[in-house]
Amino acid sequence: MNSRSTKVAIAGAGIGGLAAAIALRQRGCEVVVVEQAAQLGEVGAGVQMSPNAVKVLRAIGVEPLIRDLSCEPLAFTGRDWRSGRVLYRTPIKGTYERVYGAGYYHVHRADLHRALIERLGDTDLRLGLRVAGIEQDRHAASLKLESGETIEADVIIGADGIHSAIRRSILGDEKPRFTGNICWRGMVPVDALPKGHVELASSNWLGPKGHVVHYYVKGGAMVNFVAVYETDEWTQESWSTPSSVDEILKTYAGWNQELLTTFSKAERCFKWALYDRDPLARWSQGRVTLLGDAAHPMLPFLAQGAAMAIEDGYELASKISDVQSLAGIEEALAEYERQRIPRTSRVQLGARARGATMHLRSPWARMKRNFGFMLQGLRTPESTTHRAEWIFGYDATAR
Ligand SMILES: Cc1cc2nc3c(=O)[nH]c(=O)nc-3n(C[C@H](O)[C@H](O)[C@H](O)COP(=O)(O)OP(=O)(O)OC[C@H]3O[C@@H](n4cnc5c(N)ncnc54)[C@H](O)[C@@H]3O)c2cc1C
Repeated sequence: MNSRSTKVAIAGAGIGGLAAAIALRQRGCEVVVVEQAAQLGEVGAGVQMSPNAVKVLRAIGVEPLIRDLSCEPLAFTGRDWRSGRVLYRTPIKGTYERVYGAGYYHVHRADLHRALIERLGDTDLRLGLRVAGIEQDRHAASLKLESGETIEADVIIGADGIHSAIRRSILGDEKPRFTGNICWRGMVPVDALPKGHVELASSNWLGPKGHVVHYYVKGGAMVNFVAVYETDEWTQESWSTPSSVDEILKTYAGWNQELLTTFSKAERCFKWALYDRDPLARWSQGRVTLLGDAAHPMLPFLAQGAAMAIEDGYELASKISDVQSLAGIEEALAEYERQRIPRTSRVQLGARARGATMHLRSPWARMKRNFGFMLQGLRTPESTTHRAEWIFGYDATAR
């Protein structure tokens, strides 16, 4: 067997599964992708694509397809929840390409998903089929579908998200952990806001028990916001539970008026509870492995879940396509784990830790943190406030 004949079955056509499928096809593998949704699409929300993800999107030919639909922020800004005072501002546009080798994009998820599908071309994509689990012995592995059908392959990838059936099948049934954070997302047409109301930035408002992030998408026509607040009341993990502007305004009563005005113009709002899992020591069993949220679901506080899924997909494709015989597959998957688990675990734990820094309740602790931001801005004006250089500088395509 050479790499041209390696057949890979992927469960899940999310951002991670599609990135992996494109990278595998680029390297000559035969790919089938199975997706439970009858129609493809992504939720109406934004996603931040940092340089480490953009380097992979460039390598798989997706970057040019999203460039005009994205917005590149001028800076990361941190603002005080009540006064709106700027706590830090670190430059992005004009700096990131030079420092990290790629830009930082804000893009609507549907636009990114559409671009991935376009690059997928004539890959075998089967919609409306739900994966139930896997079966494997020493010679073959197959995806078991709920319909009773099976799809045999040399390698199986579980890219089926936080409630992964593939993960359950190989690692057992262990529930994700509610992190105590509830999250609202909404989109606001720029025309509904006063001119210049929202800065062209990745804006982070930091307050007690919560934070809010907003940025432009759709080439600057819409503002996307994500508002996170600590609670122990409500725990539904779904992207599509409807909420209301009133509910958000009630939760953020007392926060800066500029922010409340942005919330008040949201077209529709949704809410969901944030879950994650602890990092794992293994993701694979035999010829079956995991990527993205199926392997390492994380809090969105470093904006890295999709970026890690994209990196996983690229590096996994590289390991699989290097395999010269079926006997080498298990070792290739072990090598993939050795390469990816230390990095994704660090990001998972880093995202948790960042929540604590952003949601400080004590005014003294916030003052101390803000003083640190100020000092760092003076000492190293180009470095990211949350020291994310090790994340952004990484290049999965060079490994
Ligand atoms: C509020 C919020 C903001 C975020 N912001 C960012 C950000 O700015 N930047 C960033 O990089 N990340 C961000 N993330 C994280 C990011 O959204 C996820 O990490 C990413 O979408 C994971 O991609 P995935 O392909 O692994 O899984 P998913 O996107 O969950 O895709 C899984 C796919 O598998 C399918 N599927 C599931 N089960 C089955 C089954 N049994 N059979 C067949 N198909 C199945 C699903 O329908 C879906 O299409 C954010 C997350 C949240 C919650």
